[in-house]
Amino acid sequence: MKNQILSFISNLKKNKTSDVFLQLKEKKYRHPFNFPDLNNLTKRTKGIIFVLLSTFLILSTVYSLNYLETHENNVFATDSFTIISEGKELCKVRDPELLDAALEKLDKELENKVDHEIAIESKFVIEPSKAKDDEITSEEELYNILKKNITYSILAYAIDIDGTQVGVLNSEKEAKEVIEEVKAHFIRDYDKETLLEVTTVENVSIKQIKATNQQIQDKDELINYIIKGTDEERTYIVEKGDTYWTIAEYFNMSLDDLISANPNSDPDRIQIGDELNLIVPKPFINVQVKRKVVQEEKIPYETEYAYVSYMYNDEQVVTKAGKYGISEVEAIVTEQNGIQVAKEVLSEKVITEPVTQIVTTGTQEPPPKKGTGYFINPLPGSIISSRFGSRSGGFHLGQDMAKAAGSAIKAADGGTVIFAGWSGSYGYMVDIDHGGGFTTRYAHCSEIYVSVGEKVYQGKIIAAVGSTGVSSGPHLHFEVRKYGTAVNPANYIGVQYR
Ligand SMILES: [Zn+2]
Repeated sequence: MKNQILSFISNLKKNKTSDVFLQLKEKKYRHPFNFPDLNNLTKRTKGIIFVLLSTFLILSTVYSLNYLETHENNVFATDSFTIISEGKELCKVRDPELLDAALEKLDKELENKVDHEIAIESKFVIEPSKAKDDEITSEEELYNILKKNITYSILAYAIDIDGTQVGVLNSEKEAKEVIEEVKAHFIRDYDKETLLEVTTVENVSIKQIKATNQQIQDKDELINYIIKGTDEERTYIVEKGDTYWTIAEYFNMSLDDLISANPNSDPDRIQIGDELNLIVPKPFINVQVKRKVVQEEKIPYETEYAYVSYMYNDEQVVTKAGKYGISEVEAIVTEQNGIQVAKEVLSEKVITEPVTQIVTTGTQEPPPKKGTGYFINPLPGSIISSRFGSRSGGFHLGQDMAKAAGSAIKAADGGTVIFAGWSGSYGYMVDIDHGGGFTTRYAHCSEIYVSVGEKVYQGKIIAAVGSTGVSSGPHLHFEVRKYGTAVNPANYIGVQYR
């Protein structure tokens, strides 16, 4: 084939040369006027053109031959070498010696980077193969492929927490930075000026180990891993109508867990599109801080009792309210994960003294907790503001007894509490069953002191006067019912009813 091409080119050379000379002759014939005398130039020009053409043709021939010699492989696969590492085919090259060269370059570059000797541990196998040109990897590509796939052993630094290795880093400096940044994370909410000491509860150390490059971790990822105690990621994007309650319930986690998983989010102010973390952090490191604080503290007050004969011994009235005192305390506190675990008081200065509380109680033994058959006035000293009976088109089922809000309401007779709580227009209400079909009702109370099922004696303070429910001012709405039917209380107070 080579010979055919050569003879074709030499024919071409002959033809072309003669064509050019024909053209030159024609030109002379067409322009006979003041034109440069081509006859004089002909001999020299002929020589120059011949040399130029010959050079051009020889170069093109050589180029074409080279091209064909190397590029016929795009059609037919020819000899190549496949580079295999750990059973995985990496690439194909024409020259097997490229591998050694690339590995040597890589070794040098890596040693420069880690600043000590390394040992490449990956094993490579070279197998003869066939490949077309477009399947062949260039020297530069080969280097990049090796860089990605290579395993080499190096001296690395492991972070050890209570005997467990949690991460491996390239340098001791990086390992130290990881520990410092984890600590910084846990003390981020403290006023730095108050901190005396920041330590870890766990024994944290950095150890030099022999590792492979594949074990080396990203610094930021490792920090995150130590803080969270896991590399698991689960998040939720807040949607319309979501609350912390509904999200916690949906993911079957407690509200407290959801809150602690999102320390920077305010449960009352989540917005659509907010990202909430669903993994409760269980950090590998618990940071303990010692800090000096000056804070105001409450001083508890004491309680003294005054005894009177006109009260029952289970009754109590606060006659003088106690007040906490305030002191300024300077202390060194130790906190772990924000919770105080120790406190050493350095000094204490009382700013205000506490006020002793005085409680008055009775000496009388209370009567038996059952109905006597006689009703006393449930609110002595009150004024009847509305009587039982027809009232403005309706019927008033009780009698209204006005007295200052907070005044003590007494059980008209002993019995069992059968209702104590809110009841619509009655407001806070108490019902007592006295036996024999009789019950009494006390409504619009501001406070209730008894509960359902409780047995009370006659005169027991069961509630306080108020204006809850439908009421125009503080008063007791008092009802007496016989077998469920309201009767006029005025006919029963101070009367033996059974
Ligand atoms: Zn009433």
